[in-house]
Amino acid sequence: VRHAERLARTAAGAGEAGLAGVVIPPSPDLHYLVGYDPPPLERLTALVVRPDLPPVLVVPELERPLARSSPAGELVEVAGWRDDEDPYRIVGGMLSGRRIAVGDRMWASHVLGLRSSVPDAELLTTSRAMPLLRAVKDADELALLERAGHGADEAFDEIAGEAFDGRTEAQIGRRLDELLRRHGHGSVNFTIVGSGPNGASPHHDPTGRRIVPGECVVLDFGGSIEGYCSDITRTVVVGQAAPEAREVHEVVLAAQEAAFETVRPGVAAQDVDRAARDVIEAAGLGERFFHRTGHGIGLEEHEPPYIVRGNADALVPGMCFSIEPGVYLEGRFGVRIEDIVVAADDGAHRLNNTSRDLHIVR
Ligand code: ZN
Ligand code: ZN
Ligand code: ZN
Repeated sequence: VRHAERLARTAAGAGEAGLAGVVIPPSPDLHYLVGYDPPPLERLTALVVRPDLPPVLVVPELERPLARSSPAGELVEVAGWRDDEDPYRIVGGMLSGRRIAVGDRMWASHVLGLRSSVPDAELLTTSRAMPLLRAVKDADELALLERAGHGADEAFDEIAGEAFDGRTEAQIGRRLDELLRRHGHGSVNFTIVGSGPNGASPHHDPTGRRIVPGECVVLDFGGSIEGYCSDITRTVVVGQAAPEAREVHEVVLAAQEAAFETVRPGVAAQDVDRAARDVIEAAGLGERFFHRTGHGIGLEEHEPPYIVRGNADALVPGMCFSIEPGVYLEGRFGVRIEDIVVAADDGAHRLNNTSRDLHIVR
């Protein structure tokens, strides 16, 4: 993989952002930059990337062999600190400047430790300082995201052929877990199964509730293949769909399509959100669509760019994100349709290609 190029780009980006450096704890960012994945612990592990100076990976002395045998060992200097030393002073001593970015996943204990060693510096998160660090995917990343998307499509196609009537949300959830793994996923990140009124809660956690004919069921699930995530939502109806469910589904489908058609290089992320929202507002359901239209995806299920009002960042070919408008009628049902899409030179293409029509299941 392209670690050296990513490190160089991060150092240059830190310079452009006026940062003395970026301090990256164990996290997807660390994996992305140097291929090292230790668990985050109370002892500080941090990659220090600075403009115009070589990167250094600071690790507890007892984990130095582990770090050195990872890809990081070939890429950066690995500096160990002993238990009777202060790692924050070591890291702070590498950073001379007024602004320092710390990874979003850094534990509060480490942020405050670092804070005390650089009392005059302003600390900010990498997601604020360098939001697009991992946003533009390279060919290897896109290939994995495409495989993950395809596997999620296949999992949906299989479950759509099965009976829902009489099964519980939890049973459907476990089945989706199984199907994702069967279709290439090494791990499953979440399975949302929202039947009937539960579908109106966008992040509903599957329960023992039994699914009955006539109900809408929102299925939103995803996992990862070699670290890269899938995330798809389809809404099915058991037996026969009530006219209102059909109408709402049609509105959400039109919103999803309108947002997709808006994607092209140079368009602001918020314009994609606007396109989906316009359709739902025109149908008089604007109040019932109360979340952003989408989120970036890659090594994390949710990462920049966020497709939300207020985000003026321009889309760039290779950016990968969800388009997932929804309408939620409290106490009754919900409908959401989600695909992962990639911005391309000529617009966008979808990584989820299973049908978006209203599926009638048994
Ligand atoms: Zn979500
Ligand atoms: Zn989702
Ligand atoms: Zn999503």
